[in-house]
Amino acid sequence: MHHVTPWDLADAESASLQDDKPHEECGVVGVWGSADAAALTALGLHALQHRGQEAAGIVSMETGAGIFHAHKGRGLVGDNFGDAAVIAGLPGRAAVGHNRYATTGETALRNVQPLYADFEFGGFAVAHNGNLTNAHTLKRALVRRGCLFQSTTDSEVFIHLIAISLYSTVTDRLIDALKQVQGAYSLVALHNGALIGARDPLGVRPLVIGKLPAGGPGGAYVLASETCALDIVGAEFLRDVEPGEIVVIDEAGLHSTKPFAAQPSRFCIFEYIYFARPDSTVEGTPVYETRKRIGAELARESGVAADVIVPVPDSGVPAAMGYAHEAGIPYELGIIRNHYVGRTFIEPTDHIRHLGVKLKHSANRAVLEGKRVVLVDDSIVRGTTSRKIVEMVRAAGATEVHMRISSPPTTHSCFYGIDTPERSKLLAAKHDVEEMAKIIGADSLAFISLDGLYRALGRPGRDAAQPGYCDACFTGDYAIPLVDLRDNAERPVSLLQAAAP
Ligand code: SF4
Repeated sequence: MHHVTPWDLADAESASLQDDKPHEECGVVGVWGSADAAALTALGLHALQHRGQEAAGIVSMETGAGIFHAHKGRGLVGDNFGDAAVIAGLPGRAAVGHNRYATTGETALRNVQPLYADFEFGGFAVAHNGNLTNAHTLKRALVRRGCLFQSTTDSEVFIHLIAISLYSTVTDRLIDALKQVQGAYSLVALHNGALIGARDPLGVRPLVIGKLPAGGPGGAYVLASETCALDIVGAEFLRDVEPGEIVVIDEAGLHSTKPFAAQPSRFCIFEYIYFARPDSTVEGTPVYETRKRIGAELARESGVAADVIVPVPDSGVPAAMGYAHEAGIPYELGIIRNHYVGRTFIEPTDHIRHLGVKLKHSANRAVLEGKRVVLVDDSIVRGTTSRKIVEMVRAAGATEVHMRISSPPTTHSCFYGIDTPERSKLLAAKHDVEEMAKIIGADSLAFISLDGLYRALGRPGRDAAQPGYCDACFTGDYAIPLVDLRDNAERPVSLLQAAAP
C-alpha cells in the first residue's frame, strides 16, 4: 500500500495548478458588532478574491444567544453570497469568512472554511490563512488519541487541539493550541463572546484590524487579510495584528495578548511582489509604491537598450511602470489580458495550459511591431507562461524581447501557505539565468537581486543574520522548521478523501 507523503502532496498540488504562477492560499475576514456582519464579511471576501477563488464560506453568530449560521460553496464570493436571501440567512452581529484556494486538488465542501465545531463552551468557528508545517505530525498524534477528523485541511488541527485542551477559557485553549502548532497562520475565530484574530510568532501571513464608524459601543471591528477589505466596507485601518499577537474583540472592546516570546518577524516578502492587492498597505508599506520601486531598482540593476517597456498583465504592471520611469523609456500596454476566462475552462494538462496563455493574453501588434521590447513580469515558476508570452510578442513583430523579473529566481518551494510546485519543477532550481533565457526564448533575462529587493523595501540590502522578511522561496532560508518534511511524516490516509466527490 502506498502511503501519501508530503512529497506526493506537492506533486498533486503542481498537477492542480491551472496557470504558471504561485497562488495565495486564502483570505480571511472577521466582523464584530454590526447588524450587517455577514454582508460586510461578504464584501471583505470579495475584495480578497485574489487570495483564493475555489470556494468561499461565512459563519455568522447571533451574539448573546450563541446561535451560529453557516453558508459555504465552491466558486467565487459573488456566486455564493450575491443573493440577498443568502445574506438574510446569516443573521447576527458577528461573522467570520474565508476564501479558499484548494491546493491538494480536493475541493470537497467539507474542506471549505470557516470550520465549525460544538464544544462544551458552545459553538466555535475558525478560518485560517497559511500552512502548518507540523500538521501531519500533530494529526497522527491526535488520531491516535481518538480524534475524528472530518476534513483534510490543516486547519482542523486547531479544532481538535482546542477540544482536548485542559484550559478553561476559549482564549486560553486557543493559545494552548497555537503553542503546539508550527507554521504560518493568520486566523480569525468566533465564539459566543468574542471575535479572535491571531498571527503566528513570525508574522508570515498578513492580518489587519479596522474599525467602522458606527455599529455598537465604540463601533464595529473588522479583521481582514489586507487593507483593501477594510476599504471596501468603509472601515478605518487601525493597525496590523502584530506577529505572535492574539487580539480578542468583545463587547468591552479590543484586548491584546502576546503569549509567545518576541522574535524578529519574517513577513512574506512575496506579498509585496505579487500576492497582495496593489491598493493594499501591508505592514505600513503601500504595495503599489513598493512594486514601482522594485521596478526602478530592476531598471538600475539590469537596464537594456529598448524602445518600449511592456508589463505582463496584471501583476507586472506597477513594476513595469517603475522600470519605464527609471529607464526613461515609454511604457505601453503591449499585451492585453482577457479578464473573462473562467478557471474551469482551462484543463490542467500541459497542452491546454499552453493554450490557456493565449486565452488569457493577446499581443497588441501596434505597440510591438519593429520594437525592442522589455517585458516585465513578477516571477517565473515553471517558465511555461513566460515562454509562450515571449513567443507571442515575437510573433507580433518585436525585433528583440528582453525579460525582466521583479522577484529573485524562485528556487525553492513555499511551505508557509503559498501554492508553489515542488522544487524539481521550478525552472530556477534547475537552470542558471542564461539557460533560463534560452528556455523561455528571450534575448536576455534578468531578475532583481535579493539586495535590490530589500533596497526597494527601504533597507540597505539583505541582512543574512536578520533579514526581517521570509524569502525562503528565493534563498532556501526556512525560518520555521519544516517538521513534516524533516520527519518524513506520512499524512494519515483518509478513506473519506478517497470516497469524496
Ligand atoms: Fe512568502 Fe516565499 Fe516565504 Fe512562502 S517561502 S512565505 S512565498 S517568501
